[in-house]
Amino acid sequence: MIAFGPVPSRRLGRSLGVNNIPAKHCTYSCMYCQVGRTHGTEIERRAFRARDAVVAAVARKLGECRARGEPVDYITLVPDGEPTLEIDLGGMMRELRHLHVPLAVITNGSLLGRQDVRADLAEASLVSVKIDTAEERTWRRLNRPHASLHLAEILEGLRDFATSYRGVLLTETMLVAGVNDADADIDATVTFLAELSPARAYLAIPTRPPADRAVRPPTRTVLTRAVQRLARVLPRLALLTEDEAGPFAQTGDPIDDLLAILAIHPMREEAARAYLAASTIGAEGLDALLAAGSVMRCRYRDRTFVRRARPTPHGPE
Ligand code: SF4
Repeated sequence: MIAFGPVPSRRLGRSLGVNNIPAKHCTYSCMYCQVGRTHGTEIERRAFRARDAVVAAVARKLGECRARGEPVDYITLVPDGEPTLEIDLGGMMRELRHLHVPLAVITNGSLLGRQDVRADLAEASLVSVKIDTAEERTWRRLNRPHASLHLAEILEGLRDFATSYRGVLLTETMLVAGVNDADADIDATVTFLAELSPARAYLAIPTRPPADRAVRPPTRTVLTRAVQRLARVLPRLALLTEDEAGPFAQTGDPIDDLLAILAIHPMREEAARAYLAASTIGAEGLDALLAAGSVMRCRYRDRTFVRRARPTPHGPE
């Protein structure tokens, strides 16, 4: 499904999500990725989905939302991969702007060293970039980038973008225990984030099943210390330490809607059951999806989640 949601988001309100590229084409293979490992990172920009098909799918979904009185605060390009790999990103966004809803892009920022990517992202009303670390070694371990990428070039591109961008720039930093939560690492991250002066800097910890099962959130003590260090120089700091709240919208077929959400956003099992219970399908619809193999259970930190089960284009996960 190209368009899904709207999904409640602390950063974006009610966000109509757009999968502008298929799963899972990414420049990174982050340890904590909630949509699984990247089987073969890539950096070549190319055409993934036809602009017309994406715009038509989003317009249709938006029409359904409006017919049901569902508010949409942002149309957000948030595929389960890296949206800037799409070579037609700028043209696609110029067309989407005709729908008169602010556009947001959630990017890992890895291609911001390129001028064409910075120009494309300038079309968005809001850009959220991932900056987990400013240390090369930590970055390679945590984000597991394509071998041709270099952190120094990315950080330089981010500086350029932050200087010229006229929209709302957000940053998101995921802290993983024993990987990027040491004081020295956090100090380097803080120094870089302060240079960008984002409208808001978000600090997140893993709350959903990660690609690497060894991933753990920092202890409360470490997290508190990190918050203190960040808050000293970043007055607009916010924490994303809990699951994003609020009911997921139902805009059409509840099963299609749920599967589209689960493809990118694992949900706690009870939340998925509640979602279907509020529809004509009923909570037991989840049992049918589990039995059919369309969704699968996974455990993370003593909680049971459900996620979309599907082969990746690069082979089995
Ligand atoms: S978390 Fe984002 S950037 Fe990292 S591998 Fe997953 S999709 Fe790519």
